Amino acid sequence: MRTTTYKCDKCGAEDTTNKIGLVDVGVFTGGYRRFGSGSGNYEYCKEWCYQCRLKTGLEQPKKPADAPAEVTRPTLEDMVREIVREEIQQ
Ligand SMILES: [Zn+2]
Repeated sequence: MRTTTYKCDKCGAEDTTNKIGLVDVGVFTGGYRRFGSGSGNYEYCKEWCYQCRLKTGLEQPKKPADAPAEVTRPTLEDMVREIVREEIQQ
């Protein structure tokens, strides 16, 4: 069985499932096309983890998952008050 270790080139964080979120980080000079398809050079290309990209401002913090709106259930007392209020109005 093979185990792949993912290691951040900046901070050295490691894991085997890439939860640290490595992606290529580089500086491209000498051209306007995207990496791999035009002239120019990658002057610097490393793999950085998500935390390092956050700390350096290369990555915006992920928005917390849309939390479901908190459901407030009426208490028994609220229900009784509501019933009484309706009876009084009739
Ligand atoms: Zn890192």
